[in-house]
Amino acid sequence: MRRVARGLVLLAALLVAAASAAALRDRGPREYHETLYVFGTLVEVVIYGESEADAQAASAELGREFGRLHHAWHAWRPGMLTSLNEAIAAGHSYSVDNELAGLLEQGQALSCASGGLFDPGIGALVGLWGFHADTPPVGPPPSRAEIDRIMDRHPGIADLRIEGRAVSSSNPAVRLDLGAYAKGAALDRAAALLKARGIDSAVLNAGGGVQVLGRHGDRPWRVAIRDPFEWGAVAAVSLAPGEVLHSSGNYERYLEHDGQRLSHILDPRTGYPVRDIVSASVLDRNGARADAAATALSVAGPGLWPVVARRMGIETALLIDASGQVFATPAMAARLEAVAGELPPIRIVELPENRASDDCVLPAAAS
Ligand code: AMP
Ligand code: MG
Repeated sequence: MRRVARGLVLLAALLVAAASAAALRDRGPREYHETLYVFGTLVEVVIYGESEADAQAASAELGREFGRLHHAWHAWRPGMLTSLNEAIAAGHSYSVDNELAGLLEQGQALSCASGGLFDPGIGALVGLWGFHADTPPVGPPPSRAEIDRIMDRHPGIADLRIEGRAVSSSNPAVRLDLGAYAKGAALDRAAALLKARGIDSAVLNAGGGVQVLGRHGDRPWRVAIRDPFEWGAVAAVSLAPGEVLHSSGNYERYLEHDGQRLSHILDPRTGYPVRDIVSASVLDRNGARADAAATALSVAGPGLWPVVARRMGIETALLIDASGQVFATPAMAARLEAVAGELPPIRIVELPENRASDDCVLPAAAS
């Protein structure tokens, strides 16, 4: 039942595209739809303007590629990443493939830019909160003492040493969990794979991440930003070819306790779930960066997110706080389209000046 519900939600992200697709189905170019279940989520694949056979073959290749990455990058099912995590815990070095080494380097750079708010090295905390499972955690949250036991060891992806394919960690408490940017990175690869096959119009939609190739016939692909409070969309955005939109929110996975929804996004500074921001969406041209940034902006919260967006090179972002207030950068505000009726009230937030910084530390005070 839950999968069906999630499928409907994912379909909602394509609602505008789907509506126009219906009109085209009988005439005009062919639109091929397939849903894959990978990365713990449903991935909607839409391929436009290709023969059924070509679209089917491309989609099958995507399925194999997602399956391969799912296996290699999974945070708790045995594969390359769990082998690396075991080696780190034992104080050894482990040889990964070039792809994972590159992803970890990208993770380190993004984590540094985020001031450590996006940190794929906090897998032990994620596991402690019960999010290393296919089903949502039940039962009480972990105790302060359990959280402190991990926090006191200060695990972070910055502790990794990556020399070619050899990865080790100066801190054995590091446990990698790539969940905050793996989907984005996988969509980047999937888009490249479709392009290499000569497909130039497609949408890939994976639980909070949408990536488009080309246009939907003579119009851009139009996707929705989900309403975190109820079924529906807060707004739609038309994506230019090559653009991606990633959303992060407490509606994706959470622990329900005492009537409270505890987000699967944790604040690496405290070890506790994010509270103030219930949804963050980032539009960019790189899936991994957009995905990482959506997570980082959720953690940054109302005061700090503009600083973190600027540091991560993000111009186009929208956040919704727990009271329902919608914030958007000027670049995002200019892109928003009403889905039904009017846009919700939006507070436009200017990003701070771009002050070059090559350290990984955020300014102490939130503005
Ligand atoms: P996302 O839905 O992209 O925001 O990713 C959330 C997932 O990333 C969680 O389910 C965790 O596996 C992991 N995670 C949670 N908090 C963080 C964080 N602050 N930095 C990096 N990864 C995180
Ligand atoms: Mg993310």
